[in-house]
Amino acid sequence: MTLMNDSFITRFAPSPTGRLHIGHAYSAFFAYRLAKESGGKFILRIEDIDPERCQKEFEDGIYEDLAWLGLDWEKPVRRQSDYMQDYNKALTKLHNRNLLYPCFCTRKEIRQEVMLSGYAPHGPEGLLYPGTCKGLSNIVREQKIAAGIPYAFRLDLEKAMADIKEPLTWIDREKGEQQATPEILGDVVLARKDINASYHLSVTIDDHIQGITLVTRGEELFYASHLHRLLQELLELHVPQWHHHKIITDKDGNRLAKRDSSISIQYLREKQGRTPQDIFDIIGL
Ligand code: GLU
Repeated sequence: MTLMNDSFITRFAPSPTGRLHIGHAYSAFFAYRLAKESGGKFILRIEDIDPERCQKEFEDGIYEDLAWLGLDWEKPVRRQSDYMQDYNKALTKLHNRNLLYPCFCTRKEIRQEVMLSGYAPHGPEGLLYPGTCKGLSNIVREQKIAAGIPYAFRLDLEKAMADIKEPLTWIDREKGEQQATPEILGDVVLARKDINASYHLSVTIDDHIQGITLVTRGEELFYASHLHRLLQELLELHVPQWHHHKIITDKDGNRLAKRDSSISIQYLREKQGRTPQDIFDIIGL
């Protein structure tokens, strides 16, 4: 089911792993403007499934910086860590359809396996998973689980694609209709070893639950949208439209990093005395 609506429900979905920088301000305002100009809604979501990297202090910083920029958002704010059961339900569905398999590999083992095979196909997220654990028998899987070896769950992409009856397409508002090619990411992890979810799974479920009709995100995540389209089909979720926007880079063309505090909104505000208008002038929206 494709959601077509003239008034867009958009979202900005940062992870509280550092202070927001001007790249985030661009992304937030991009989503905000499309919602407001169309008479729709702007949603802020906190993507905090990773307890090791996420901090409350940074979550508070997100509210502080966005409010200072003059943005307002729907309340209450959804924090992913409060909804792990939603991701678990989706995993169970995929599991019942036999579309997931446990993967016991460490990153090092994956690299070694790829080196040994002499063939190293890369996707946008790095090396494609070579499928080491895909063919394990149920007995071996059970033995490894019983031995306490940590495991993730990967999507069996071949099986998943075989389950799809019609050509999978999606609309990018800038580039037009796209044919989904989730195979560019290989057998992705949908449940991490340490967390019973992953970015790809939680973002797709949340966009559905929150009724997002237009997913705006940076163009570096264009490939991820192909996979999300597949997950929507497998889990019978709403299909939004997408708009991938340009990425703000530093003067050398590198992506801005949260660890570089000199470009954070907080630094620009508190240490350089910049105003919200200055920030809008920098991001050029
Ligand atoms: N939490 C993700 C990030 O901060 C959201 C990206 C998305 O819009 O899907 O990059």
